[in-house]
Amino acid sequence: MSDHYATLGIEQTATNDEITSAYRRLAMRHHPDKNPEDIVGATERFQKIQLAYEILSEEYKRRRYDASLATSNDPQEHMFGSRARTPGAGLYTFDDELFWAFFGFRPQPSGWDPRFEGRRAWDEAVQRERERERERERERQEKIRKERERQDQLEREKAMRAEARRKAEQAEKRAAEVSRSSRFRQESLDQQTRWQKAGATTEEQKASTCLHSEFCEKIPQRKKFKCDVCRAKRGMVAFKCPYCHKNLCQLCVTHYKAERTGTFK
Ligand SMILES: [Zn+2]
Ligand SMILES: [Zn+2]
Repeated sequence: MSDHYATLGIEQTATNDEITSAYRRLAMRHHPDKNPEDIVGATERFQKIQLAYEILSEEYKRRRYDASLATSNDPQEHMFGSRARTPGAGLYTFDDELFWAFFGFRPQPSGWDPRFEGRRAWDEAVQRERERERERERERQEKIRKERERQDQLEREKAMRAEARRKAEQAEKRAAEVSRSSRFRQESLDQQTRWQKAGATTEEQKASTCLHSEFCEKIPQRKKFKCDVCRAKRGMVAFKCPYCHKNLCQLCVTHYKAERTGTFK
């Protein structure tokens, strides 16, 4: 049997207050929660302290314990010890003996089983540790789930932005096409009007009164070609007019553009 007084570091004559304060001080120091680097050792010490306090803080338990100390530590036990060697001797107090004398059976020591007490504290400590472990795991999973959700949300937003950009580009492109085809229609009408006013009917007349087009077809040349309009030999790209079908050089394209829009005059 362990020495509960030594466990709490107090004299056998200690008062209830001394017992309580020693218990509080030691329980605080050896609590498993305060000793994460040595949970098993701390739990063992903590249980011992709890058991010691459990027994010494309750008067009848303490008396019974003191009685057991008195008999088992008594050096005379071996000489006169028939009583001490009786099984259960020392576990019962004088009150218990009186009870027995009156009722013919010994009272059951209520709730006092050191093995049970130790086991319970240990099981509870293990249970708490498992619960904390589960809690940490839950928190970890929750964190992972949130991070995944955040990533998904970012992906969705990114996709939505890309889709919006694509749509905007498409609309812009369509608008540009519409504007291009309407400008081409307008330019074509202007040229027809010009020819009517000039009374141009033959190919030659039409070519000489043509102001050509913004929408010439670019035709790459293998060598420098001769411009049908200015007769100069230059450029590697010919611009074919959609109205008079002449091949223009870049300079003539620029010149006629200015003439069409009136910025040249
Ligand atoms: Zn032309
Ligand atoms: Zn030219």
